[in-house]
This record gives sequence, C-alpha cells and structure tokens, in this order.
Amino acid sequence: MRKPIIAGNWKMNKTPDEAAALINDLKPLVASAQAEVVVCPPATDLAAAAAALAGSNISLGAQNMDYHDSGAYTGEVSADMLLGLGVKYVIIGHSERREYYAETDETVNLKVLKALEKGLTPIVCVGEKLEERESGVTAEVVRKQTKLALLNVAQGDVAKVVVAYEPIWAIGTGKTATSDDANNTIKEIRAAIKEVFGNVAEEVRIQYGGSMNPKNATELMAMSDIDGGLIGGASLKAEDFSKVVNY
Ligand code: PEP
Repeated sequence: MRKPIIAGNWKMNKTPDEAAALINDLKPLVASAQAEVVVCPPATDLAAAAAALAGSNISLGAQNMDYHDSGAYTGEVSADMLLGLGVKYVIIGHSERREYYAETDETVNLKVLKALEKGLTPIVCVGEKLEERESGVTAEVVRKQTKLALLNVAQGDVAKVVVAYEPIWAIGTGKTATSDDANNTIKEIRAAIKEVFGNVAEEVRIQYGGSMNPKNATELMAMSDIDGGLIGGASLKAEDFSKVVNY
C-alpha cells in the first residue's frame, strides 16, 4: 500500500566529479529495486548528479532549502532553484540542521509548506535526543515535532509528505534503535498525524534513519510501519547503499 522509499543523505561529502562517479556505480546495482530510490547530494553536486541520474530509476533530492521565494538571503537556495535542477525531494529539519544551524520547529514548518507549494516532496526529519529517550519522553517529542512540522499543511497534501524518524543518538554512531522500538515510535508519529488529519495518516510514508546499513536493513524494513530509510554513512558507498535499497 505504501511504496517503500530509501533515500541517501550524503551530507557534506563528495565533489561534483565524485558524485557522478558514485551515481554511475550505483545505477546498475539498484536498477531493479522495488523501493523508490533517492539520493540527496550537497547542493553544489546537484547539477552533476542530475546529469548522471538521467534515464535511471533514482530520483534527486536536496538536503535543505530556504522557505523564501527569492531575495537577500546570502548563501541560501530556493525551491525554484532546486526544481530547475530536476530535484524532486528535499530533506527538511535534519537534526544536524536543527542543532548546528538553529533550525526550529517553526522554520521546519515554513520549509515544509514552501516545498509542498512548489511541488517538491519534503522528507521531514523528527527524532529525540538521548536525554529525551532516557527520560521516557520520546513519544511526546516526536508527536510534537511532527504536528508542528505539518501545521497548516492542506489536507490534500498530507499524503505527499515523507517523514523520517531519526533518533538523534543513533545518527552516525553505529547505534540503531531496535526494530521494535523504531516501529513503535513510528506508530506514535502516524497516530499524531491521524489525530490532526485523519485516516490519510495511513498513506504517509515514514522512514527510519540512524545507522541503517546492509546488516540491519532487512529486519527494519520487515516492520509493519517502517516504510523506508534515510541513510547517511552507508549511502556513500554504492555497494552498501544498494544492499539497503535491495533489502
Ligand atoms: C542521517 O544523517 O540521516 C543518518 C541516518 O545518518 P547515519 O545513517 O550515518 O546514521
């Protein structure tokens, strides 16, 4: 019912030439994937990546965008600029952007609304910090982040949104949530969407992210509510990423 979606978040890695090389290695390895496949290179690689992806089953995503249409926002990239490069997806509110670049629930929401208005698919990241998990407030944290990220989203747009549940303590650490924990938290996220928007919540794809790799992908993807993955480290090697994609 929900088509799985596996996206690679390359973060601040790869030059344009390296991006094209990685994509060329990846293409044959994922050509018959059942899941939707997305790569999210840095903004400076998007043009080279788009050229390398032409004619493949892999879609292009960005790692961030501004919520203004244009103007005096030095260093920022707009939705139209991404669309002009063939970008279809945009990661919004990754925990690294929340932590290092002062993104808030409010700016995340503005970006989600702008992405939807422009026809980009937002991949909205939510997830708890270690101390929040240890204090037993994971469900409240992800429910609140999800509802605030989706504030004022039109009913007809909700099913277009992809949510990535990324427990912050599991990102880049080699620690993964157990498949049951990840699935249960994703159920909380789905329930929060349902409280606001109703049964369309069943159509929203919710990924797991946090040290997902070729070894744990099969188990995570077998869970009832995990509809894909947002992959950091393991997306930088074609073979590893393809194994996750072909879980
Ligand atoms: C991420 O940054 O979205 C991520 C999940 O990273 P990693 O897979 O390296 O933990």
